[in-house]
Amino acid sequence: MKAAAVPAGSQLATILVVDDDRLNRVALAELLQPDFRVLMARDGPSGLEILTREAVNLVLLDVSMPGMDGYDVLRAIRASDHTSNLPVIFITGMSDAADEERGLLLGAADFVHKPIHPAIVRARVMTHLRLARQRNELEALASLDGLTGIANRRCFDETMDRVARQTARSSDVMGIALFDVDHFKQYNDHYGHGAGDQALRNVAVTLNRFARRAGELAARYGGEEFALLLPGCSELEEVMNSFRQSIADARIPHERSETSDWLTVSGGGVVVPVVALAQSGDALALADQLLYRAKAGGRNRVMVQRA
Ligand SMILES: [Mg+2]
Repeated sequence: MKAAAVPAGSQLATILVVDDDRLNRVALAELLQPDFRVLMARDGPSGLEILTREAVNLVLLDVSMPGMDGYDVLRAIRASDHTSNLPVIFITGMSDAADEERGLLLGAADFVHKPIHPAIVRARVMTHLRLARQRNELEALASLDGLTGIANRRCFDETMDRVARQTARSSDVMGIALFDVDHFKQYNDHYGHGAGDQALRNVAVTLNRFARRAGELAARYGGEEFALLLPGCSELEEVMNSFRQSIADARIPHERSETSDWLTVSGGGVVVPVVALAQSGDALALADQLLYRAKAGGRNRVMVQRA
């Protein structure tokens, strides 16, 4: 039997309908149900509550509701980190251009007017789901390093900033490590850039194995420099040495290295209280200084400090 053609990302998109009018909710659910997973809320607060626990792809939001109106709900959606990019389509009975303008300024993606025309609602929903998916794909691409496929510097910096903003407990620490491939220029000169690229990929794949848990991140920080973010990790030195040893154990020949017969890495790391990360540039600068000292001290080693 021939398998059915399954579109990419075949899981049904989830749409949240927030409308105080029951008949409207039912009508929207009926027209969307075959193609989407539909959740419903009768007012703003319960709609926002659903957003905290469900992965919603798009919101159809009634403008006119008692208590918290659509504008208030949209403002709350935009203010929350994990829904700030969520597409929201306003449902409005008003044909007043000023209301539409206000909604668009607040970040509504589009409008549908009551009475509802099923074909128009479906078309707008499809369009904005597609746009959101494309944006997510672009964002994912923009945070990956093209050569190695692991996170890039931009992603690393953004992640570090986010952790600093989100983690409030003062007792939390963050381990930040920078690594550099030893004598990489000589490696490239001797073995060629193709081999150099492959060596960087090997280093990246190995480093990625040390960032397995939620919130941990391995990144290519630029050139032959790599970075590791380990929230809550106070055993940073052990982890860094374990990675350093893994690279040495991979025995990638490096005839031009003054350090070893094999490719090696040096690292500098800091363990900092998360509250101090507001000055994350300082933590990275310190890690960089320690990396420099590890290099000056003979390479194929790590230097770690608690800030
Ligand atoms: Mg209403």
